[in-house]
Amino acid sequence: MIALVTGANRGLGRETARQLLAGGHTVLVAARQEDAARDTAAQLGEGAYPLRLDVTGTADIAAAAEQVRERFGHLDVLVNNAAIHYDTWQHAVGADLAVVREAAETNVFGPWQLVQALLPLLRAGSHQRIVNVSSGAGSLTEMTTGSTPAYSLTKAALNALTRMLAADLRDDGILVNAVCPGWVATDMGGPGGRPVSEGAAGIVWAATLPDGGPTGGFFRDRLPIAW
Ligand code: NAP
Repeated sequence: MIALVTGANRGLGRETARQLLAGGHTVLVAARQEDAARDTAAQLGEGAYPLRLDVTGTADIAAAAEQVRERFGHLDVLVNNAAIHYDTWQHAVGADLAVVREAAETNVFGPWQLVQALLPLLRAGSHQRIVNVSSGAGSLTEMTTGSTPAYSLTKAALNALTRMLAADLRDDGILVNAVCPGWVATDMGGPGGRPVSEGAAGIVWAATLPDGGPTGGFFRDRLPIAW
């Protein structure tokens, strides 16, 4: 099985790649810096291949898709993990919309464009899964304050995208789910969160669901959570 993980050079992306490798997958370790992709893939070892991929770059996405096609001819699993701007410093009422737009490029349009570019390769794959790494911060039900507006808005949009892609790809047998990893101690999550291994486990679960498994859902620790 061939898997591609975006933002795989650190944090949850790196740990997701590590766990998928341990499960026997071949993993494309995608990172926006070429040396970061190369170093991480080398550290993760056999079965890990570096891929330079800035998810905001149309040319980058096309080049990455072409590399995957040339090398493997298909893709089975896509984990849209890369994200930015956990904007704890602002509220919706006074939010800098430039920050919100920038977040949307990485957190929403990046995954969307990547799915579109990789779809021919996914259609050529087997037991195909797309995991959109989301957050409870994007839950409309939980959205009772205007805090982290760029992050919350873009994760809610990613959840909406998950529903739409799941519906569009249901007949292809491609399962598409959103996963919140919980609060995890990474650069983004900061100290105090749980270990990356625990957060990544739920992502890997969604990436390796059996045929006939759920699609169009929002999960944390394998359990459905409120949109
Ligand atoms: P992180 O430590 O900040 O890592 C983010 C990763 O995304 C880095 O590898 C970064 O690459 C990459 N990235 C950012 N912009 C990119 C771009 N344009 N193209 C490609 N890669 C890009 O974050 P994390 O905590 O591991 O979070 C991973 C995912 O889990 C995110 O979707 C996040 O929203 C979600 N999440 C995290 C928590 C938490 O508590 N940590 C909670 C809920 C959800 P560089 O190294 O080049 O910057």
